[in-house]
Amino acid sequence: MKSHKKVIILGTGGTIAGLEPPSGELLEYKAAQVDVASLLQGVAMPHGIEVLSEQVAQIDSKNMNAEVWRGLIGRVLRWQKQADIAGIVITHGTDTIEETAFLLACIQSSSKPIVLTCAMLPANAPQADGPQNLADAIVWACDASNQGVSVVCAGQIHEAWRIQKIYTDRLDAFDSGAHGVWGVIQNGQVVLKRNISKISFEFQIPSAQFVVQTSNWPRVWLIPNHSGSEDLQVLAWLEYAQSHAINIDGIVLAGTGNGTANDALERALNHAQTLGIKVWRSSRCYQGVQRKQKADAFTSAGYWSPYKARIALILDLLYQLESASKARALI
Ligand code: ASP
Repeated sequence: MKSHKKVIILGTGGTIAGLEPPSGELLEYKAAQVDVASLLQGVAMPHGIEVLSEQVAQIDSKNMNAEVWRGLIGRVLRWQKQADIAGIVITHGTDTIEETAFLLACIQSSSKPIVLTCAMLPANAPQADGPQNLADAIVWACDASNQGVSVVCAGQIHEAWRIQKIYTDRLDAFDSGAHGVWGVIQNGQVVLKRNISKISFEFQIPSAQFVVQTSNWPRVWLIPNHSGSEDLQVLAWLEYAQSHAINIDGIVLAGTGNGTANDALERALNHAQTLGIKVWRSSRCYQGVQRKQKADAFTSAGYWSPYKARIALILDLLYQLESASKARALI
């Protein structure tokens, strides 16, 4: 009997599904125009792999939000339960792919791999990179050594934990920092470069089911420290939130160096904390871990970028909500 593997491709949009105008002006292209089933028609399908597809969203990933994430996670959970599915591929825009990958990696409890892929050129560009990226992602999603969440682009496999978009304009737009890529895919063959990272979380993770069911995710905003940052940047938010009955649940500082804020901003963030808002500090620096200090006013986000730290804080707050609702159920 012929053995084959089945992969589900979930489409969410991005440049991989984008179209440039007939005039061929690349910069005038629109992301998220082509449905995922049509994208697959242009892919040289790896031998012995059966592919199904489902459109989950059709957005430019700059517009990614909690609602789309909840829908996507719901579908991921559903397909992972299906016994004959070997792995999941998600087509996604490059702009926020590292956030979606990180979120999925945090809540992933299945051993079935999730592979996100993307493109830097629209689907109808003469040198479109999407079809090859998609073919590589499908191969990697069926690979026995793959049990994690990763992003495939330009022949490279990046772990969700490490990936960051570092170029606005290169086909290999991503980097995995000092850890390097997890592997590469050459002529349809996977070559792993190292073992998967072992991550120890310093934040709590709610169940994936709770993440999907909860419509009002905690509101967590990012605030940068830079030369001339003002306390007003935080105080104005707080005042606006209070006068409009808006809850701010958390703030992540995109701090300088070791996750620092200037004196005025630090005072304002301390004030936010006294109001019950969780404040975490992360760093604008691309590499390195933030050292903890004895007199830390704010929780350190460790090695997570500000954007990943924001998701980590949302998950931590969701965990607290889940624990509280379980405790209420016991009363
Ligand atoms: N703006 C696009 C997106 O993130 C960029 C891309 O996919 O490369 O959806």
